[in-house]
Amino acid sequence: MSRYTFGPVPSRRLGRSLGVNNIPYKHCSYSCVYCQLGRTLVREVERRFFYPPREVAGEVVERVSNLRGEVDYVTFVPDGEPTLDLNLGVIAEAVKREVDVPLAVLSNTSLVYREDVQSDLEILDLVSLKLDTVVSETWLKVNRPHPRLRLGEVTWGLEEFSKRYRGTLILETMLVRGVNDTVEEAEGIAELLSRVRFSKLYLAIPTRPPAESWAKPTSEERLVAVYQVLSERLGDRVELLTGYEGPDFVVSGDPVGSLLNILSVHPMRLDYAYRLLERFGLDAESAVGRLVEKGDVKLVEYRGYRFLVKSFPKKPSEAR
Ligand code: SF4
Repeated sequence: MSRYTFGPVPSRRLGRSLGVNNIPYKHCSYSCVYCQLGRTLVREVERRFFYPPREVAGEVVERVSNLRGEVDYVTFVPDGEPTLDLNLGVIAEAVKREVDVPLAVLSNTSLVYREDVQSDLEILDLVSLKLDTVVSETWLKVNRPHPRLRLGEVTWGLEEFSKRYRGTLILETMLVRGVNDTVEEAEGIAELLSRVRFSKLYLAIPTRPPAESWAKPTSEERLVAVYQVLSERLGDRVELLTGYEGPDFVVSGDPVGSLLNILSVHPMRLDYAYRLLERFGLDAESAVGRLVEKGDVKLVEYRGYRFLVKSFPKKPSEAR
């Protein structure tokens, strides 16, 4: 029986990811309004012992060996904040010694200002950090942090960690309607991230039932505006993560499929989309018209241009 692991689950960022649950249900330093696990039961900030590290590492090694070649990443993505585990680094090192699969962690960034957390994270090959806002008021509203945390320390920690970390650092921002989805919020994030070394920033929306029913996904219109602000400053490292979470698929010789693939990652100006389709000899206007009619894509105006953006999924996604 698997006590500490689950999956593998498909993930666009990580391929086939074997999840490691090194924290008991909902022990977290945040209680995000969009959390798919519900409200935090134990909000805490002191790192401590949760499970025997040898037991956790032993199960991970056994699962990876049994899955022979079917795992692209072993990912610490527990039912809470993984860096609260005092033994995160010990488990990661023990797993690394035994298996040849890269290790990843998805963290909320709140404890990354700590030296011991930074050195634990350095053991992992890929670190994904959450940054939903750089505005204190918004932070209190969206992430509902433990009262001992300070946003200044969180953002400082992110910046400092990015200077010393040699692995792949990716970031994620969850956009909640009416909370952190304004151009001003995006400008604040862009300003901070212009000083941070990272590979990708993913813009996500809540696609599974959130802790608070009022935490809705931003609109496609707002998403395009936020995307434009961030990508103007940070370049093509900004991508969307708003629906399909399976691995990318390559469509050769299918221009409409290719367009949809691109749109899952970036919104595209309508004239560029037309040009792409016309290169394949298609009647671009009708092809796009059909996609809009079917509800696959949406047309959005921003600063005088028309953009195509993939419509948000109607049903909650099962991917983790
Ligand atoms: S940091 Fe993650 S686990 Fe913690 S409340 Fe937020 S979404 Fe949930």
